[in-house]
Amino acid sequence: MLTVNAKEAQQLILTKILERNQASEYLSKFMNRSTNTSTFKRNVPVVTYDVVQPYITRISTGEDSSIISGDRIVELLRSSGTSRGEPRLMPAISEDLDRRTYLYSLLMPIMNKYVSGLGEGKAMYLLFVKAETLTNSGIPVRSVLTSYYKSPHFLHRKHDLYNNYTSPDEVILCPDSQQSMYCQLLCGLVERQHVLRLGAVFASAFLRSISFLELHWCDLVTDIRNGKLNPNVTNTKCRLAMECFLALPNPELADELEEICGCGPWKGILGRLWPNVKYIEAVLTGTMAQYIPMLEFYSGGRIPLVCTMYASSESYFGVNLRPLCKPTDVSYTILPNMAYFEFIPLEDGLRVTDDEEVVGNDKLVSLVDVKVGCYYELVVTTFSGLYRYRVGDVLQVTGFYNHAPQFKFICRRNVILSIDTDKTNEEDLHNSVTRAKKILEDRNHILLEYTSYPDTSTVPGHYVLFWEIKSTCEGVQPLDPQLLESCCVSVEESLDYIYRRCRAHDKSVGPLEIRVVEAGAFDALMDLLVSQGSSINQYKTPRCIESGLALKLLNSKVTASFFSPRDPEWTM
Ligand code: AMP
Repeated sequence: MLTVNAKEAQQLILTKILERNQASEYLSKFMNRSTNTSTFKRNVPVVTYDVVQPYITRISTGEDSSIISGDRIVELLRSSGTSRGEPRLMPAISEDLDRRTYLYSLLMPIMNKYVSGLGEGKAMYLLFVKAETLTNSGIPVRSVLTSYYKSPHFLHRKHDLYNNYTSPDEVILCPDSQQSMYCQLLCGLVERQHVLRLGAVFASAFLRSISFLELHWCDLVTDIRNGKLNPNVTNTKCRLAMECFLALPNPELADELEEICGCGPWKGILGRLWPNVKYIEAVLTGTMAQYIPMLEFYSGGRIPLVCTMYASSESYFGVNLRPLCKPTDVSYTILPNMAYFEFIPLEDGLRVTDDEEVVGNDKLVSLVDVKVGCYYELVVTTFSGLYRYRVGDVLQVTGFYNHAPQFKFICRRNVILSIDTDKTNEEDLHNSVTRAKKILEDRNHILLEYTSYPDTSTVPGHYVLFWEIKSTCEGVQPLDPQLLESCCVSVEESLDYIYRRCRAHDKSVGPLEIRVVEAGAFDALMDLLVSQGSSINQYKTPRCIESGLALKLLNSKVTASFFSPRDPEWTM
């Protein structure tokens, strides 16, 4: 029904947003209290976070929510997008939880159309919360998933056969992610015969948990054998919740697990540990696509990989109506009741507009008017006070489901490096490298060229920088390892807040590596890329390497490699 009436649903949602929020300081500046949708389209500008931020700051320091919304802002959602190194905070009202729950509630009915018997077993979903803070005015600041997992909407799913998870809520809500992961894996192993689905929100988190299992399976097996939880789990609520899982020693299960984990390679291990699993669910589109090969390794290529939804802290967006398609073919159908959606056409195909570029109001295309094959940047208007806000995602229209368009996620505007929730753009990387190369210059070396690569063959993945360095003194100067290590530290210290949090707190990104390449390596790179079709006139060194051949070439010219010796500074 929603997709049949997509146009009407969008018109209705915009009308309601304007009726409820017309008195806000922000909207009345442009609309003079009108609720007319044409006035909105004519007068309200397309904005980026820089415009929203002063309002968020005012609300955080105690001003009334009415400066942006007719409803009370009950929480600020910490997005993984950053603005000048600080996380972006998105306003949310209490009814947003209902909207998110609505989208979640569609996922199992969709899956159920393709996979039978899902109500007869459990899901081992590795879900985690992050620490939260309060603004000066007492508004919680947390991630959108933390908000959802702590809400009654999630906690009251108890009687829902289709959302029966192996992990007890207390374990999901444990603020220590290592203890949480340990206990969640333990529950999943104890319940291995009942597990029908595996997953996490993002593929990166799922893989981290599997590599954690690779490191700690002996301890987990010991706990199962003895019926006693490892003393390193100190969180009292976790310990209590785990009691029923380890009520009695279970040497038979311990033997089975030891046999599976201790013998042979881990290729295909997931199907052996969880023999009844029907699919693995995680976001594998966008930057997460880099994890498909690793997941295929652990799943032995025999368990379907399913991407179900597309969402953000600003708003939830859509669902995948063909969940069993290959991750590379996934399209998301936007749900027209989530927010009011508009689209900036990217006229030169993938040429992505930058933040500073002013986007004329007449350029925007509404949800039902997008064209198949075309690329767009997503813009949202929400009940909670975002008006024509550029989300920063680039999407391509692949078709329509009734009248609701379906989109392939192409990329995040400007992002070149991402391992977990970190998103580093070319400018951030350039600024960090520029700062670090001064250290070289002070020691008679110059940085001739650089590029980067997100190395996900290690767990956790890490940023790799390829540097071609020239000595400014006569003769060959050996490179001092400490000098290069200080450069690694300097780059990391100047990357943004989310990167530093992932590194120092979440440990979801490993130490940054600089690989020094021999003289002429970047000329060879240029020759290769020109031979592959780049124009020699317009050639610019790519600041991130994606092609396999280019990477192979640079790796073949590496003369030394250095890692960051310590975590970057990070405070919450
Ligand atoms: P956050 O702002 O931290 O809530 O992250 C939201 C962003 O994550 C989105 O704007 C996308 O860039 C990315 N994202 C979320 N879901 C998906 C998905 N299914 N596929 C690709 N990227 C996604």
